[in-house]
Amino acid sequence: MALYVQKYGGTSVGTVERIQAVAEKIKRFRDQGHDIVVVVSAMSGETNRLIGLAKEIQETPDPREYDVLVSTGEQVTISLLSMALKSLGLDARSYTGAQVRIKTDSSHTKARIEDIQTDLMRQDLGAGRVVVVAGFQGMDDDGNITTLGRGGSDTTGVALAAALKADECQIYTDVDGVYTTDPRVVERAQRLDKITFEEMLEMASLGSKVLQIRSVEFAGKYKVPLRVLSSFQDGGGTLISTEEEDTVEKPIISGIAFNRDEAKLTLLGVPDLPGVASRILAPVSDANIEVDMIVQNVAADQTTDFTFTVHRNDYDKAFAILKEINAMLGGRECVGDNKIAKVSIVGVGMRSHAGVASKMFTTLADENINIQMISTSEIKVSVVMSEKYMELAVRALHSAFDLDKSDTVTG
Ligand code: ADP
Ligand code: ASP
Ligand code: MG
Repeated sequence: MALYVQKYGGTSVGTVERIQAVAEKIKRFRDQGHDIVVVVSAMSGETNRLIGLAKEIQETPDPREYDVLVSTGEQVTISLLSMALKSLGLDARSYTGAQVRIKTDSSHTKARIEDIQTDLMRQDLGAGRVVVVAGFQGMDDDGNITTLGRGGSDTTGVALAAALKADECQIYTDVDGVYTTDPRVVERAQRLDKITFEEMLEMASLGSKVLQIRSVEFAGKYKVPLRVLSSFQDGGGTLISTEEEDTVEKPIISGIAFNRDEAKLTLLGVPDLPGVASRILAPVSDANIEVDMIVQNVAADQTTDFTFTVHRNDYDKAFAILKEINAMLGGRECVGDNKIAKVSIVGVGMRSHAGVASKMFTTLADENINIQMISTSEIKVSVVMSEKYMELAVRALHSAFDLDKSDTVTG
């Protein structure tokens, strides 16, 4: 018999009826003799509602108090699910992150898991109980409640699976697996039976929010078998696997990710001298703003245009810093755009195929989409464009790289 850690996301526990349906699903696994540790998210919309309340009081909520507040969403669902399990005749116990001793560092709102004690959970499992753990939260050394960043219940699930050496970590959600791109944007997206960790990591970091990026990092590092499945229908879902398959039909591109969360800033006409990049970016990083893409162009007149992207939430702060830097460096102008999007193609097949980037650029040119920035790695190509072309770009690339589902019904 196996030990499964099953994580159920917000939509899957969004109503009392859905919580009851999840309990029934868990019962089917118990009836087959499997041990189950469940991780749940807050009911869908609840975390946003709580953040909204906090922002009515403080524009930038106090991080410690923010964590105390937003962690309550998951406390509601662990207890309701345990009640639903008990009413089906199963023995179950709910635990908050602190109770189950998920120890994290002290970086409120984006804490990292450092250690998990498994004794308590093992005792419960040994006594035939289903263990129900609140996702997204932990406790630091001083006993403060911490949270793991949006979407963090995925990471709780994977971390528990790693600590318990579970046979599989199953992420149950509102789609039946990982698709070639977000099926809510491209109807013809196809579900993948398998995807490599490496590809999933790129997809997650480039904007596919089906799994929180840290959960994929964790699963890769601790070799946790990870599967994404539907809470609402049966099926094998998508296995995130360590092996790269060597089949002839393996597509060059496995998926397309997109992200509207970024903004672009440019310093025009700054002197092209050693140390300029560091003088521009050091104050930005000192302000705790993460920089994603960077492009620098040197002009004939010994000046340079320096462009970089940041999270859209940091745009105003970064722009203010940049204005000061521009004055200091004697640059010509400082401009910005927060209506951009990043579209990326991802696939390990790229390593062995030439011409992937140029096919991407030709496809976008055929749609008259202007590329503003480009960045590449061994298994991805990302481009920045005006946000208004994003969906068109994703659809065009999805077709161009033969990812569209073929028609099942015609006429
Ligand atoms: P949960 O609340 O269960 O954690 P999320 O909303 O975080 O669910 O993640 C599931 C959503 O991820 C889907 O509804 C889908 O719209 C989105 N998504 C984005 N990219 C993909 C992709 N490549 N494959 C599947 N789903 C994707
Ligand atoms: N409830 C948290 C969020 O909405 C964590 C999660 O759902 O994974 O971000
Ligand atoms: Mg999620």
